[in-house]
Amino acid sequence: MTPVTHGLLPLLLVHRHLPRTGDRPAGRASWLVAGFGVLPDILCPHIDIAARHAAWSHSLLAGLGLGLLAWPTARWTLGADAPWRRVGALAALAAGSHIALDLIAGGVPLFLPVSSRIVGAHYLPLWLWLVSDAACVLGVYLVYRALPRLRSARRSRAPR
Ligand SMILES: [Zn+2]
Repeated sequence: MTPVTHGLLPLLLVHRHLPRTGDRPAGRASWLVAGFGVLPDILCPHIDIAARHAAWSHSLLAGLGLGLLAWPTARWTLGADAPWRRVGALAALAAGSHIALDLIAGGVPLFLPVSSRIVGAHYLPLWLWLVSDAACVLGVYLVYRALPRLRSARRSRAPR
């Protein structure tokens, strides 16, 4: 999958559990979840599957490490008064979802550094990656822009 889907799909799946600012999921918490979703590709940038197959950031060990890093990052980013434990858990899930998605979209070196064997395969054709990117962009636009505006307009028209 591309970084677009890795960042936006976790947001779409967990946006109801993020703290809110008005009608929208809060910005910092959203960026944190999306960032952790993309982090494995940021740590080991690659443009082809062969390079990904050598990327330590797509291993189970890296996923666990990123998951553990999510909580202190959430506390530091959001502050002790915010629901940082919940956001940290969602960010950890986002990092894990990255490895799981790549596992079904070409495979990952899941057991590095113990074994360089590639786990997974090409279950999703490349054209579906692009459809997924477009659907995620549209979904995030709906959740973060269109639907809050619609709700706000409805409230302002409602009789008081
Ligand atoms: Zn990746």
